[in-house]
Amino acid sequence: MSKKKIIYTRAEMLKLNKDILAKRGVDIESIAEISYQQQSKYSDQVSLNVCVESVEKILSLRDIFHHVQLACEIDRLAEEGLFQGPIQDIIEQDFGLFGVDETMGLDVSSLYGTIGQTNFGDIDVNKHGIVQKLNDAGKEEGICHTFLDDIVGAIAAAASTRVAQILNEDLASEDNGVERFSIFDI
Ligand code: MG
Repeated sequence: MSKKKIIYTRAEMLKLNKDILAKRGVDIESIAEISYQQQSKYSDQVSLNVCVESVEKILSLRDIFHHVQLACEIDRLAEEGLFQGPIQDIIEQDFGLFGVDETMGLDVSSLYGTIGQTNFGDIDVNKHGIVQKLNDAGKEEGICHTFLDDIVGAIAAAASTRVAQILNEDLASEDNGVERFSIFDI
């Protein structure tokens, strides 16, 4: 029996993540806009471009790849009624006391440090941009966004934290008079 492919390159993982998110109605820009909204409050040096780049970098990482693929598939399976037992209705109805989706979100959001988790909390509670849209659409019959809204919010939170790290690295480099670091280092 030939083994099926389970190892993917960074470029492949980014593409597969983009594809599955697009299938679920989410594009990179809408995630980056949340990061931009969060970080532009603290600095006027933030560009949407660096937020988009951060989201793309995060989506190319193996651990995040596994989270995104799993989250999207759980929602799809719940929409199709393919789980058995009580968990089908719990996920499909996005039961408020079910927290496994938030656990996954917290894990992803801490990629660039603990601050990512507070950024995630802000997005989770205040439901910025696409997260609000996903949340609203998830209430419609036949649509389940129980895991998707958290994974999208968590990616935005991690990207937002990466942007903050980059800006601080820039500031520190200026202070030391050393050459500006490459953003690809972070
Ligand atoms: Mg959720």
